[in-house]
Amino acid sequence: MKKVMTAVLAAAMCLSMTVVAMADGIQPRAPICDECGRTTSRTIISREYLYMEEVECNKYPDKTDNIPYYEVTAEYTCSTHGGMGEFTYMEAGSRICRH
Ligand SMILES: [Zn+2]
Ligand SMILES: [Zn+2]
Repeated sequence: MKKVMTAVLAAAMCLSMTVVAMADGIQPRAPICDECGRTTSRTIISREYLYMEEVECNKYPDKTDNIPYYEVTAEYTCSTHGGMGEFTYMEAGSRICRH
């Protein structure tokens, strides 16, 4: 529990020091190569904490859990055609339940 809070705090501090560039939209890119249509490998370049969303707890309906959202910048690489550049999108992190 304490560890989670520390991580969130560190991420928030990190965010305040970072100019968030909303570069290429918020959707993950389809992980396929433009040239051959095969699945690419994804390398995460950065993952910045954005904000916390409150949702209904899945154990206690009268309580709330939090789901952190991150802005992820990743590079996609085809094993045949090489890197397809960097792409930025939003990603939900794992649910934080305090109950
Ligand atoms: Zn390819
Ligand atoms: Zn909960």
